[in-house]
Amino acid sequence: MTGQTVRIPAPCDCGALAVRQVNQFVERGELWWDAEFHCTACGAHLCEHAGQGAPPDAHWRPALLAANGPTHLRLTGPVPSLVPVLKTFRELTGAPLPEARRLAGELIGGGTTGTLAEMELLRTRLRHHGLQADLSPPE
Ligand SMILES: [Zn+2]
Repeated sequence: MTGQTVRIPAPCDCGALAVRQVNQFVERGELWWDAEFHCTACGAHLCEHAGQGAPPDAHWRPALLAANGPTHLRLTGPVPSLVPVLKTFRELTGAPLPEARRLAGELIGGGTTGTLAEMELLRTRLRHHGLQADLSPPE
């Protein structure tokens, strides 16, 4: 399982500052997230939520990137045509064609960045379409 974790301060009902641990990972070929809440002051421990796809809280992805650093993915083999790259992004993100074209252009141009789980999933999907790519690990 490939994934990353970030611990984000979060207020607890008891008044203390607790910690929310957010995990993002790849499982069964999909992107997942889950979140746990733990307060050392009152002992509260909650497995809050888990789900498929992008994290629901807009702060979590930037927090994951800030804590772990971005992962860079670039194509290493020949790209015979734009089609497999476009297909990969369309399947993965459900993006409309202009957005898929922009993402494909970025990837072919010099690579793309994201969280480790996002890039690992992208690499796997690219491989399904016959494209080889490398990840550079977070610094
Ligand atoms: Zn508490």
